[in-house]
Amino acid sequence: MARVLIVEDEEALGLLLRYNLEAEGYDVEVVTRGDEADIRLKESVPDLLILDWMLPGLSGIELCRRLRGRAETERLPIIMLTARGEESERIRGLSTGADDYVVKPFSTPELMARVRAMLRRARPELVSNLLKAGDLEIDRETHRVRRAGREIHLGPTEYRLLEFLMRSPGRVYSREQLLDGVWGMDVYVDERTVDVHIGRLRKAINRTRDRDPIRTVRGAGYAFDDQFATAQ
Ligand code: CA
Repeated sequence: MARVLIVEDEEALGLLLRYNLEAEGYDVEVVTRGDEADIRLKESVPDLLILDWMLPGLSGIELCRRLRGRAETERLPIIMLTARGEESERIRGLSTGADDYVVKPFSTPELMARVRAMLRRARPELVSNLLKAGDLEIDRETHRVRRAGREIHLGPTEYRLLEFLMRSPGRVYSREQLLDGVWGMDVYVDERTVDVHIGRLRKAINRTRDRDPIRTVRGAGYAFDDQFATAQ
């Protein structure tokens, strides 16, 4: 399991990232101060670091510079986060040694994709592209979906929805959580939109007698059926 350390002083954002990264199957830790992160990173080195630019204690830039100067963290994959308006500092960020740079507000799915891409490069053994449950299979690199060997064509939203649900079988997501995780945190869409796309997804993946892998949980939301993999 890949270990991700988040250094972010905005509590809500730290929580959102933790939540989404854990749903991806990563082992996640969040610290809110730069100096605290510096100490933490001397004790143990994660597989990837998400580092905010402006931090109390020690800035993200300074921390990044220190990490690049130490043998243990010289090659640690680092994604730097920064607020809009600090883009002009981008060059400085990259020259400080961050591998990637993301401007707030960003879309959560996009950041997750970057994390995955970076980990795949740095630690390919920790990241699998294939998600399987029963006769359903999705390849996260090519975005191909198959059911019982038959290729299924999904729209981009239905694909992301299926991938998101399939990552955590049994876990029930509210419509709001699905909007955050699939559409992105700064997109304002009516919650009924989720129902519409769930409907399309079901129509695409289920033939008449197929078992439906998506569970509707009344009053709560939707889940990928954790019995699906074994019930065929
Ligand atoms: Ca900050």
